[in-house]
Amino acid sequence: MKKLLSALALLSLLGGCATHQSPTGRGQTLLFSPAEMNQLGAASFEEMKKQQKISKDSKVNAYVGCVANRVTAALPDKSQRWEVVVFDSPQVNAFALPGGHIGVYTGLLKVAENQDQLAVVLGHEVAHVLAQHSNEQVSRAQMTGTGLQLANVALGAGGIANRDLYMAALGLGALVGYILPFGREQESEADVMGLELMARAGFDPRAGTVLWQNMAKAGGAQGPELLSTHPSHNTRIRDLARLEQQVMPLYEAARASGVKTCQMTK
Ligand SMILES: [Zn+2]
Repeated sequence: MKKLLSALALLSLLGGCATHQSPTGRGQTLLFSPAEMNQLGAASFEEMKKQQKISKDSKVNAYVGCVANRVTAALPDKSQRWEVVVFDSPQVNAFALPGGHIGVYTGLLKVAENQDQLAVVLGHEVAHVLAQHSNEQVSRAQMTGTGLQLANVALGAGGIANRDLYMAALGLGALVGYILPFGREQESEADVMGLELMARAGFDPRAGTVLWQNMAKAGGAQGPELLSTHPSHNTRIRDLARLEQQVMPLYEAARASGVKTCQMTK
């Protein structure tokens, strides 16, 4: 009986949520509320900060903070505060979590060679959050990975059930050891939204193709960590080249109104 009730609860939720639309008009199944996702994001970020070495290099922190702040300042929602942490690790990786958390690994700075390329990555990561892709991922994991346990999900008070699964679904697979990659549609959506966001922030969108080409070349046999959770596809560079031209006017307008340059001080 209990199982049946859970199944019914899930079906009614699915019915209620299937009508969600992503910012580019894609249908989305979202089983969690924004408040639940923010809670999950915050808990996961705290876990990251406990388990990983945080960079205390003031120059690196200032540089990454400068780029991240300009990107998030260009978001329509000005009320959200964003926490930015640099992790001291050779991983070529970065992520953003619901609730306003950004993590950048120092290894990324070897692949993203300047402020514009770093802004490509951060715009892309923030776009995943904005479009609620982690909600989609966690919802999918909930439906496929753990069956009809929705009623038993305890976020917060009772501890996070299936904590590793949720962290993997948030894109933190490298930490917990298994990977739930974003889908191709989610990747394209994050490219579109991310490039527009960084251009609005006054970063040169033409860095998009360069960054993803650098990324494809980097990281040895296994490739960079970022590509394991954010799979690339073979039309990506072509799509990006077209997008770059589309958002150039946003970049030029931002430049004309004056933006500060983010640079690593020597
Ligand atoms: Zn991605």
